[in-house]
Amino acid sequence: MPFDCVAVDPDPTLDHYNYDYLDENCSCSLCSEYKRAKEELEEAEAGAVGEGWKSMKPKAKRRRDAHLHMLAISNQRDLYCEMSFLTQNKRDSADILAWLLIKLRSKKNSWWANHSAKKTLSAWIVEWATERDLTTAGTRK
Ligand SMILES: [Zn+2]
Repeated sequence: MPFDCVAVDPDPTLDHYNYDYLDENCSCSLCSEYKRAKEELEEAEAGAVGEGWKSMKPKAKRRRDAHLHMLAISNQRDLYCEMSFLTQNKRDSADILAWLLIKLRSKKNSWWANHSAKKTLSAWIVEWATERDLTTAGTRK
């Protein structure tokens, strides 16, 4: 690969909800980031043994950052997997999951770590349908 090409992990598939299979075999962007975050957290925790959670020392800060990132990517991956399962064999599955991928990349880690789990799957579907209707409103006759 030429040096100016950046390897990009592929988007997750539409059938993306078998965690045992995903943990072992999937190298999509969500699963790859999840695995990297898990390793980073394990390293950060090992490096911060004996440090208090609120310590301002760099090792403790690294552990807090790694924890936040792990929570964020876990919530993103879980949401995608749940939505993949919910929409399997549905007409709009590909549209919903493509839309969701954009949403996954549009908010900060802190939101995904602290707030995303409070939003229900039905609320995500309603948001998708609302945005779809707004997008297509001008094209209807
Ligand atoms: Zn995956």
